[in-house]
Amino acid sequence: MMAPQGTIYLLHFDRPLAHAQHYVGFAMNVEARIKSHRKGTGARLPAVFAELGIGFTMARTWPGDRTEERRIKNMRSSPKLCPICRQNKRSH
Ligand SMILES: [Zn+2]
Repeated sequence: MMAPQGTIYLLHFDRPLAHAQHYVGFAMNVEARIKSHRKGTGARLPAVFAELGIGFTMARTWPGDRTEERRIKNMRSSPKLCPICRQNKRSH
């Protein structure tokens, strides 16, 4: 059986919190998931940012499944994957 295909997304928060500035997630319906992240009703890390009033940008998405999401999370190299961080690095 194939794992259900959905969208893997990378959130870039407006400012870092305890060295965390990114969140990698997976959703079948990304727009609905982003809304719940903004309301702070989604996963724990985005909820903490929402409580502190720190906004985010959806930096990029990939088509994939939960296995792929796990693989990207485990890489722990979100800044390298993040077009916003790469852009900032280039301009300094
Ligand atoms: Zn970033």
